[in-house]
Amino acid sequence: MSDAGYSVPDSFANWLVEKQGTNVAEGPCGGFGSLRFAFYARMSTKEFQDPESSLGWQREAAEELIAGHGRIVVEYLDVGHTRRRPWSRRPEAARLLTDLGCPECAFNAIVVGEYERAFAGRQLRQLLPVLDAHGVDLWLPEFGGPVDPAEPDHAAAVLLLGARSKKEILRARFRTTAAMRHQTLVQGRYLGGRPPYGYRLVDAGPHPNAAHAQWGRRLLRLEPDPATAINVTWIFSQRLAGRSVAAIVRSLNDARIPCPSAADPGRNPNRATQYWTVHTVASILGNPRYTGRQVWNRQGTEHPTDETADVAARRRWNPGRDWAVSAQRSHLGLVSESDFVAAQAISDRARPTNGTTRTYAFTGLVRCAPCGRRMQPHWVHGRPGYRCRHGHTSARPAPDGHPRNLYLSERRILGLLAPQLPDQGIEATAAGIAAQVRSAGAALNCNFSSVEVSPTTDHVSFSSAAGDASR
Ligand SMILES: [Zn+2]
Repeated sequence: MSDAGYSVPDSFANWLVEKQGTNVAEGPCGGFGSLRFAFYARMSTKEFQDPESSLGWQREAAEELIAGHGRIVVEYLDVGHTRRRPWSRRPEAARLLTDLGCPECAFNAIVVGEYERAFAGRQLRQLLPVLDAHGVDLWLPEFGGPVDPAEPDHAAAVLLLGARSKKEILRARFRTTAAMRHQTLVQGRYLGGRPPYGYRLVDAGPHPNAAHAQWGRRLLRLEPDPATAINVTWIFSQRLAGRSVAAIVRSLNDARIPCPSAADPGRNPNRATQYWTVHTVASILGNPRYTGRQVWNRQGTEHPTDETADVAARRRWNPGRDWAVSAQRSHLGLVSESDFVAAQAISDRARPTNGTTRTYAFTGLVRCAPCGRRMQPHWVHGRPGYRCRHGHTSARPAPDGHPRNLYLSERRILGLLAPQLPDQGIEATAAGIAAQVRSAGAALNCNFSSVEVSPTTDHVSFSSAAGDASR
């Protein structure tokens, strides 16, 4: 090493100055210029881990671009918003647009660290005339300064960047989707989201991706929850026995079994309902994850096709062909695959193998007089009927004197009703009477040898309500 003009720096700071040149220490915006810039930056959800470096480089790129022309006087930072969202739907971008119109506007130009940060698709093209109307320039590194739509090169670049961003968004989305699909199909991996009712999440070892493992991330898998799994099994068994979803719901509520949101309130803080509903039970019966296979992408996000449109992305159910179902079982199933398939084949109007439809005209209208509960549809000898086996099938004991099985065929109910409804005529059908009872808000109280029409309010008599229904 010669000593011709070379000296060892005496501190790290000095070493850096020497390495980077003296200009940098003064900063790129130490120059002159009269423009007052608003700086816009956006940070995606993925960058939450390292927000400072993301915002830092955007700010640096912006300052480098405007060096000598002015300085940044105000910042607008959107965090956790996708760029597919139009400016009007990003809080900070929307605030910038509002400030634009205000007379004591602090800035007279806007700078962005990178096109991709701020825009997607046709957003820039839509914004430029707005800025022009306010006499505010937009500076972008991709243009080396202010964007001038009157310049043919700039106009072409605006179109090109828009088209490219659209393609990149689609490609990124496709890559993520493909990776998750693969992890589900081949590895049966649990990919997040809340566990289905009846399961809980347990540790499944360190994350296979070394980078994730270093951050302490671990894999999770589903395991039957000792407290609730039994209810899922029971729901499937009842459905396979031919009970209607509504009847299953009633039994669960009658037996005071906590519904999914009540069983785990912390998991569903948004749901206030304390009772089982038809919807809850139907979703359990329709969820293929109860077979032990991992299923991904049953629900997806529908992105608006126009990124300048002021609409939010929506959740929607995907068609079955889009689902990814693991090749192997990834967790213990609560129902066998054959039982699951059989449960799907049962519709609420149960269709027997001969293809006929079972129709119950009085579903929900017939009540058991001894206990006051709704009677359950029950098919016997090819005919519809209703029964109450309260005390036999439900968790709570029936009142004294309740028959073990109160059963009435639909035909018998009609026969017992006929003398009470002289206006109905000879061709009174079960469906016609049921419609009138329903519209009257009435119920049919049944015992072995009597059916009584009971209005739910004292003011409405059955016959007058029946008259209303015929209008
Ligand atoms: Zn009863």
